[in-house]
Amino acid sequence: MKNQYMLDVLESVKKRNPGEPEFIQAVTEVFETLEPVIDARPDFVAAGILERITEPDRMIYFRVPWVDDSGKVQVNRGFRVQWSNAIGPYKGGIRLHPSVYGGIIKFLGFEQVFKNSLTTLPMGGAKGGSDFDPKGKSDNEIMRFCQSFVAELYKYIGKDTDVPAGDIGTGAREIGYMFGMYKKLTDEWSGVLTGKGIPYGGSLARTQATGYGLCYFTNAMLRANGKSFEGQTVVVSGSGNVALYACQKAQSFGAKVVAMSDSNGYVYDPDGIDFEAMRVLKEVKRGRIKEYVDTHPKAEYHEGCKGIWTVPCDIALPCATQNEIDGESAKALAANGCYAVAEGANMPSTPEAIEVYFANKMLYGPAKAANAGGVATSGLEMSQNSIRMSWSFDEVDEKLHGIMENIFAACDKAAKDYGMEGNYMAGANIAGFLKVAEAMKAQGCV
Ligand code: NDP
Repeated sequence: MKNQYMLDVLESVKKRNPGEPEFIQAVTEVFETLEPVIDARPDFVAAGILERITEPDRMIYFRVPWVDDSGKVQVNRGFRVQWSNAIGPYKGGIRLHPSVYGGIIKFLGFEQVFKNSLTTLPMGGAKGGSDFDPKGKSDNEIMRFCQSFVAELYKYIGKDTDVPAGDIGTGAREIGYMFGMYKKLTDEWSGVLTGKGIPYGGSLARTQATGYGLCYFTNAMLRANGKSFEGQTVVVSGSGNVALYACQKAQSFGAKVVAMSDSNGYVYDPDGIDFEAMRVLKEVKRGRIKEYVDTHPKAEYHEGCKGIWTVPCDIALPCATQNEIDGESAKALAANGCYAVAEGANMPSTPEAIEVYFANKMLYGPAKAANAGGVATSGLEMSQNSIRMSWSFDEVDEKLHGIMENIFAACDKAAKDYGMEGNYMAGANIAGFLKVAEAMKAQGCV
């Protein structure tokens, strides 16, 4: 990056956000690709768009006390960052994981602004979460935690203000408890959360949306480059919500998914992952991935989740967590002939890994664009709640498919318009940014 103004803004972001490397990483990646836009738009400089867009509207920190099954009081920390409502109400998921702190929530909230813009739906960006670890907790403990979390959060959210959803550790069960508590506190039934259960306002296909959307995006990217999923070997990291449905959709497109993981290790199944067995193990039994080999004797379990990137594949779909592919893992993928990486997780590739993708001319579908299907379908859930109607699975899936095709086309076009053909990372950042920046400029200095 040569633009001195952008270097100065980035420097000030680094100074003002010490100890938050994930947030700095996310801002740096966006800035590095926005240079041609800023060079061409002095009006954005005058309107202070970069200074404003790197500072959230507000960050809320709160105490979350709850009582465990032994009667002991536990205390976690809750967060909600409301980043930008320039193009619609704040919108973004809630992450429950022990690694959560302010910097993680800020990186996710910042990225969400651009992702939501790419969907073309009217949604601003937000994110929330807690350092609470749902693993190993009883249903009652999860319920008490969720109720306490919402007892504070409810003051700041609303169907036209801020609409949270799921993320790591927050699935239909957690959203159900949160929705129940919100309703009790406000006496209001509204679409204040998305990812709800189907009997009480959830959208069909929301569970599948991020994984399916990832494959729709990847399919469009492959097609534009004369390739397809048909007959390809695919590796999917993670085995949570996004990973499971990415696996299912990739298989339905004719690919063979040979490996999946959790935070302890990965399984390699030369026959291709048995999706239904994996779904029941992870979604219904909430088991560990190593148990898969108990019922699939040809499959192997390997301790350590990073090893999954040494499994030879044509296409890699990282669907677990941030920075899960470093430079070394990216080199292993390239050396084994992998030619495409599309991100289901948020920021799963380190900057060094991204350099390896470009150096090896691999196709790279960045998270902001490739995993936007989840929030897009959350947007469709909000629409259904507002009009008091429910669409069929196929109707929602068809809309999702169309949105993901459009997102790919927008990334492709923006990259071409700014002289970076084939760089979908730059295309996603530019297309997502332009809409928000225009809206901010039009609304004045607020
Ligand atoms: P889940 O909680 O359902 O699953 C997460 C998966 O990733 C699990 O297999 C988990 O393993 C693994 N994982 C989590 N943390 C780590 C870690 N530190 N190291 C290695 N593996 C890890 O989450 P989701 O599937 O919902 O989310 C996965 C990713 O997709 C996240 O980056 C999320 O932000 C992103 N995303 C999710 C969307 C959604 O709609 N759900 C939408 C857009 C993006 P284990 O069980 O061992 O913890």
